[in-house]
Amino acid sequence: MIEVRNLVKQYGDFRAVDNVSFIIEKGKIYGFLGPNGAGKSTTMNMITGYLSATSGTVLVDRHDISMEPEEAKRHIGYLPEIPPVYPDMTPEEYLAFAGELKGVPKRELKAEVERVMELTGITHMRKRLIKNLSKGYRQRVGFSCALLGNPEVIILDEPTVGLDPRQIIDIRSLIHSLREKHTVILSSHILSEVSAVCDHILIISKGKLVASDSAENLSKLMRRANTYDMLIQGEPEKIQEALGKIHGLLKQIRVEVLPNGFTEVHLETDETVDPRAAVFRLLAQADCPIMELTSANLSLEDVFMELTRQDEQANLKADGKEEADHVGNL
Ligand code: ADP
Ligand code: MG
Repeated sequence: MIEVRNLVKQYGDFRAVDNVSFIIEKGKIYGFLGPNGAGKSTTMNMITGYLSATSGTVLVDRHDISMEPEEAKRHIGYLPEIPPVYPDMTPEEYLAFAGELKGVPKRELKAEVERVMELTGITHMRKRLIKNLSKGYRQRVGFSCALLGNPEVIILDEPTVGLDPRQIIDIRSLIHSLREKHTVILSSHILSEVSAVCDHILIISKGKLVASDSAENLSKLMRRANTYDMLIQGEPEKIQEALGKIHGLLKQIRVEVLPNGFTEVHLETDETVDPRAAVFRLLAQADCPIMELTSANLSLEDVFMELTRQDEQANLKADGKEEADHVGNL
């Protein structure tokens, strides 16, 4: 249905989307997951033709979005991160206006507006000014707009951000109800959000696609590794050097010194290797006593954290820098 090939978006020296490729098949719900700043909105804006790509192609039903934007866009309904709704219009007026822009034939327009308002449950708010609607209802107006003209693919950028739990449940069931007739792509920085509704998860981190699989397979994938959490007494560098000698070691993550002076280590080895005896010997040789060792299975949450960890750290650093700048300005 949609084919994204080597998509790149470059802003000056900064690559917001870095060579992303994936295929969206008909009739599934896709989750586009990644921390803030990962490149989700940028990618979605390129898929929907709102933003031109620096390089790469997007084919929507075999139509290139840059060559035949009208044809490609006919297949897509988009709810952007900040929906462009007009505060001084009523939902009814706004949807009629948006429907016309979208090319819904004039004689079908009225019925189509009724249909989408019914679907999203805003019919009783049709005559209220959008600026007087709650955030949840405003979001539904944006949602209705994406459904206008009954496009095959519905793309929703963080549709539940800023909503309260009740509204989130409503939007979720709305997304569920689309499952039968539409292909849905939905972005979020919250894992539970996508694992609750999506058949397939694409994880994006620092502009790169780092995983693409079903939620079930993603957690299975990680369970194939043997994973251990340890508390060790000793210098992190010394511990790392000692553990580096383990046969079948895949990676060491989270080597950090806790406030109590112990070093926390998360270790993963090949599924065929049980490293515990080697860990014991190597750390004894290095004079780094093991205070605690537990075997852990990675949950989907861990998979996400691990795949996007560097992103989070980069964000933290950037935040710290901003604060420093503010102090400098004062
Ligand atoms: P997400 O939607 O995953 O939170 P975005 O796609 O909005 O991320 O942004 C990805 C990165 O691109 C961010 O670091 C953002 O600051 C940067 N970015 C987005 N738009 C622009 C722009 N117009 N100019 C420069 N950088 C941009
Ligand atoms: Mg975004």
